[in-house]
Amino acid sequence: MSTATTKDHPHLAAEFNRDEPRVNWHDETLWWVRAKRDIAAHKLPEWELLRETASQIKFNVLSNLSAYLEQFEANATKNGIIVHWAADATEHNQIVHSLLEQKGITKMVKSKSMLTEECHLNEYLKEQGIDVIDSDLGERIVQLANEPPSHIVLPCIHKKKEEIGDIFHEHLGSAKGESDPKILTETARQHLREVFLTRRAALTGVNFAVADTGEFVICTNEGNADMGAHLAEIHIASMGIEKLIPERKHLGVFLRLLTRSATGQPITTYSSHFSKPQEDTEIHIVIVDNGRSIQLGREDFRNSLKCIRCGACMNTCPVYRKSGGHSYHTAVAGPIGSILAPNLDMKKYADLPFASTLCGSCSNVCPVKIDIHDQLYKWRQVIVKEGYSPKAKTMAMKAMALTLASPTLYRMGGKTGRLVFKYAPFAVNNKLNPWYNQREMPKAPDESFGEWYAKRKGAKNS
Ligand code: SF4
Repeated sequence: MSTATTKDHPHLAAEFNRDEPRVNWHDETLWWVRAKRDIAAHKLPEWELLRETASQIKFNVLSNLSAYLEQFEANATKNGIIVHWAADATEHNQIVHSLLEQKGITKMVKSKSMLTEECHLNEYLKEQGIDVIDSDLGERIVQLANEPPSHIVLPCIHKKKEEIGDIFHEHLGSAKGESDPKILTETARQHLREVFLTRRAALTGVNFAVADTGEFVICTNEGNADMGAHLAEIHIASMGIEKLIPERKHLGVFLRLLTRSATGQPITTYSSHFSKPQEDTEIHIVIVDNGRSIQLGREDFRNSLKCIRCGACMNTCPVYRKSGGHSYHTAVAGPIGSILAPNLDMKKYADLPFASTLCGSCSNVCPVKIDIHDQLYKWRQVIVKEGYSPKAKTMAMKAMALTLASPTLYRMGGKTGRLVFKYAPFAVNNKLNPWYNQREMPKAPDESFGEWYAKRKGAKNS
């Protein structure tokens, strides 16, 4: 199960686009979620104030990150939580493995954590002989389908209920052809109940870590993080260094924004606080950098670390809705993923900042006011400057810049283009032209606007 691919976004999007009915309901379903978000947001007169406050709180956190991290570590340790630091994905995975190994544990239950997707933890642990079961329903579905999640909040949004029925029939023994969501959910519930009762270790993500109390908060709609963590003898929580908030009172701001932005609900069904281990159990937190401090040092992109992973920018993005999450070939898809991924590997993810119309809808819905579309535009400039854009495209853009800067070249280019369209349209309208693959070429006019204008002006003056 990996997002590793040699194909870029346009090719992967073209594959998704082959199934037109799927594209249409994917688009419509996500737009429906976006509309629910709008209704929930408009019900709160103080919505914009909440967004601004959240943005400022995160600005403060990012400006004083090392101090807040140390404060959190000291308080969490005082509470009896064991804190570990991981510089990158490999270190994170090794720490998790060593904790399991020390206790002789070979089976673990895991609730939704995009950080562990980013670190490819499941694949790593499988290689070490550890069996991991994802307990979030959507995550369990894609895990059984041997696919990565396609959305950070709705991991299997690309799958139809009939497909889920087939997967459950194959792996969980539900009746063949069964696609009633209630029955499928009950099947998953029975299956996961057994897992929760028998696993000695549970891994969860972290939505918010409170620096002045040393506690952390996990938000789920299914209660699966609580089921796993409360029944296991060891609870491992993986968190990125940016997940901090200074004080518990700030949760009021973020919890009101998070689920309204994500699904349009007033609040997540379960917002659970973990502050200390129960008797005879352990809580470990693995605090992971994995490129975040580099992003923090990039002035134009540091605001992306304010992200609370609500998914609203994906639901609203016309490119995401039409191209599907897997086309981004990275753990976090969509507009925010396209800002985060090039920081980790500029060459591999050079295509992603271009997977946007730059319409700005993502920035408009973002609950922490990240200037997402501006950052996508800035990444494009960095990528071109660093030489990671496709050579043919770079040369074409240079030729275009030259043409647009010279009236003579512009006129000549226009004239040539009109002649080609008229007498040799196949030179443009062919399958080798990726632009034409998706669109109808317009009919070329007989004259340019400049020529038409000059003629009319001449006629008027005569
Ligand atoms: S960038 Fe903003 S809208 Fe997108 S997932 Fe993060 S917080 Fe949500």
